[in-house]
Amino acid sequence: MATVDLDNIKKRFGTTEVIKGVSLSVQDGEFIVIVGPSGCGKSTLLRMVAGLETITEGELRINGVRANDREPMDRDIAMVFQNYALYPHMSVAQNMGYGLKIAGLPKPEIAAKVAEAAKLLQLTDLLDRKPKQLSGGQRQRVAMGRAIVREPSVFLFDEPLSNLDAKLRVQMRLEIRELQSKLGITSLYVTHDQVEAMTMADRMIVMNAGVTEQIGTPLDVYERPETLFAAQFIGSPS
Ligand code: ADP
Ligand code: MG
Repeated sequence: MATVDLDNIKKRFGTTEVIKGVSLSVQDGEFIVIVGPSGCGKSTLLRMVAGLETITEGELRINGVRANDREPMDRDIAMVFQNYALYPHMSVAQNMGYGLKIAGLPKPEIAAKVAEAAKLLQLTDLLDRKPKQLSGGQRQRVAMGRAIVREPSVFLFDEPLSNLDAKLRVQMRLEIRELQSKLGITSLYVTHDQVEAMTMADRMIVMNAGVTEQIGTPLDVYERPETLFAAQFIGSPS
């Protein structure tokens, strides 16, 4: 269970303001997609929620409690990146369990959690393989597995599908949403792809140059764009 609140969040790198006051309340179990062109600040926003970037101004609350200064490890968050580098010398099982091993969990407990996640992700038969023996989609699932075994309250995704071919991307969108609904994990998902946003989001945030152009359901944004930018961006092919 988790809610995430962003309250007028700003980020400056030196004197350049790249996030100019973003506010958002994410409900428990909601799947929010942040969509916008390259360079508009999507990754920076997500990294602030993860605790990988400091927040210059504004307040981040997780479950209603201020989290601006909380360490990344204490935020109960797992992140899936675009470049989900798996350890090439480790098996699928070892890759999935590595974070738990670092956290000092006993081996049998790690094995049980890995087995459970593998079942959810249809990786059970592949646990002994090395990453290079997997397809792109299977590798993506291992990256998901690595996040799931930690049983986070919040999932953050930063363009996790952008390295996959078009067909696999469509399939993985469905898989991610199915899994997220099943687990009910509150999620923030970043993409520059309008179609991905429209097909996956409970609600989407259209971002442009560090500001929120619109927040709403895909249908809302599609049928009633509130700004010229939102209309043009959502209306243009990705
Ligand atoms: P997106 O993920 O939407 O492509 P980013 O969040 O990566 O955008 O970047 C937003 C803006 O912030 C860009 O102009 C980028 O150059 C700038 N930026 C990102 N990280 C840094 C940094 N560490 N130092 C200075 N500028 C940065
Ligand atoms: Mg980015």
